Amino acid sequence: MNNTLMEVGHLVQLHWSRKKENSICTFLYLHISVKKEIPDIDETSVKNVVGVDMGMNFLVTAIDSKDRMLFVGSRHIKNKKAQYKRIRKQLQQRQTPSARRRLKKIGNRENRFQTDLNHKVSKALIRFAGKNSLIALEDLTGIRSATTRVKRKNRYYSVSWAFHQLRFFIEYKAKRAGIKVIAFDPKYTSQKCPKCGHTEKVNRNKKTHTFSCKTCQYTSNDDRIGAMNLRTKGIEYLHNVSVQA
Ligand SMILES: [Zn+2]
Repeated sequence: MNNTLMEVGHLVQLHWSRKKENSICTFLYLHISVKKEIPDIDETSVKNVVGVDMGMNFLVTAIDSKDRMLFVGSRHIKNKKAQYKRIRKQLQQRQTPSARRRLKKIGNRENRFQTDLNHKVSKALIRFAGKNSLIALEDLTGIRSATTRVKRKNRYYSVSWAFHQLRFFIEYKAKRAGIKVIAFDPKYTSQKCPKCGHTEKVNRNKKTHTFSCKTCQYTSNDDRIGAMNLRTKGIEYLHNVSVQA
């Protein structure tokens, strides 16, 4: 079994705000302090596979091997984000020193809100998955898939620090909890029917948030479909590992 050094302890946040345009801060994480040896999770000990769909506004949908589901996030997040955006826009137009000061303040508050949210979401997900599980999530960092995804789903946040932060939180909390995390290419995860495999763009209706297979008529919430397809990727991964071993 491979052992890796896992850095646990304090998370140091360094941030600075850009002066112009939006006041969203760029975050840089330094993960420092006590080094503790944490064994890598052995694939053969995995008993539960959790597929995770990370939607816009950080609404996370997860489904596990027993078909249990988890939804984290709410409409409230969307409203809150819209509210921040509105205030920022108003302040940006004013161009006065006091408006700039307020803009910076608002930006900091928004970052704290996002960080807090990411902590909550990752914590809920780790608790849901439990020990000896594999979390299969979308790799939104791959440039090609990230850009197409952003375009497709209008997820401008997916390439931002907030998504990276959420992924980072999930990964380090998972490791501490004995959970393996693997990121998969999200290609077709929202178009593929988890029942019959039929893959077509029109299977999904973004407006109604529903997925309805044009071949077998299987119908469900679209985020749930994404989570199911990621779970399948996780199961396939485990299968391949066991075949190779
Ligand atoms: Zn189908």
